[in-house]
Amino acid sequence: MIKFLDLKALNARYQDEFKSKFESFLNSGSYMLGAEVVGFEKEFSNYCGVKYGIGVSSGLDALQLIFEAYKTLRILQKGDEVIVPANTYIATVLAISNTGLTPVLVEPNSQTFNIDINAILKAITPRTKAILGVHLYGQLYDVDALEAISNEHNLILIEDAAQAHGAEHTDGRKAGNVSDVAAFSFYPTKNLGALGDAGAITTNNLELSQTIQKLRNYGRTSAYKNEFKGFNSRLDELQAAFLRIKLKDLDNENDKKREIAQFYLENITSNQIVLPVGHSKQHVFHQFVIRCEKRNELQEYLSKNGIETMIHYPLAIHKQKAYIELSSMSLPISERLSDTVLSLPINASIKETEMLKIVSVINQFK
Ligand SMILES: *Cc1c(COP(=O)(O)O)cnc(C)c1O
Repeated sequence: MIKFLDLKALNARYQDEFKSKFESFLNSGSYMLGAEVVGFEKEFSNYCGVKYGIGVSSGLDALQLIFEAYKTLRILQKGDEVIVPANTYIATVLAISNTGLTPVLVEPNSQTFNIDINAILKAITPRTKAILGVHLYGQLYDVDALEAISNEHNLILIEDAAQAHGAEHTDGRKAGNVSDVAAFSFYPTKNLGALGDAGAITTNNLELSQTIQKLRNYGRTSAYKNEFKGFNSRLDELQAAFLRIKLKDLDNENDKKREIAQFYLENITSNQIVLPVGHSKQHVFHQFVIRCEKRNELQEYLSKNGIETMIHYPLAIHKQKAYIELSSMSLPISERLSDTVLSLPINASIKETEMLKIVSVINQFK
């Protein structure tokens, strides 16, 4: 069986470094917001090319803390509308509704899977205050267009960069540095994955970063002095230590994913399959997502032939029971994508023989 993702094999490559890190962590006696978190925040913000990085407990918390910080600074308030793509992981939209804001779902472009520019323009109302773009599957959204729209309409631009660590715009700026503020997840399956929950926020906005830094730690300014009603959303010290080890290898890992993607793009020739589009530097291939009219049959056929695949995502947000209040929306592009997309295995532990098998099995699909 070719697994979709073998996390054990991926992390085994770092086990010696992880183990010696754990020993020194244990012996340090400093287990909360210590040298590892501070070190990771510095290294990750440098990597992204921004001034400030704040480690937090997950990707969802990163997104929620961004909205909470804007509310604390009285830049956003309850009920403000936030434009967001309908074809994303549910956490993107939960962050908006969980913080009392109103998600306004819009369609993606069916070629890039990313938020559609005309759909944004149609969705803007006097109550629109922000756009939450997603670099879906690892490919940057249309950075120039989103920056232009948000400048023209005076909207906050936020990146959900949970799938795009290291993706690079044509002007050299990386994911995390192509908006006002960005949220990252280091969930174990992400391109940069911890061994548990972890996340981060990157920004060049000092006031925002200071507010988030306080909010993630009970709103405190110093021990037992609290300026805001905050949260416990700290990045775990041990996860930060692991992430520092893996960050050094991120560019390598992304390049390996790009190579596998290139192999699929060149060798999958079946006319039943629509291949993804994307410029190589702008895309870190968190997922390699093909489309097929007979998607369910294809998935079953691949499974019978020992190839595990996944569907990202089988339901658009307005079709989720959790968002029943949005169920009357009509978003045909998002709905069609959820019926036709299929993610192929793409990670550094796949062997060449497995890649060959995957393409030959797919090319024989009738
Ligand atoms: C993984 C992910 C999140 C949530 O991250 P967690 O760390 O699991 O909370 C948010 N948005 C997107 C697009 C994701 O892929």
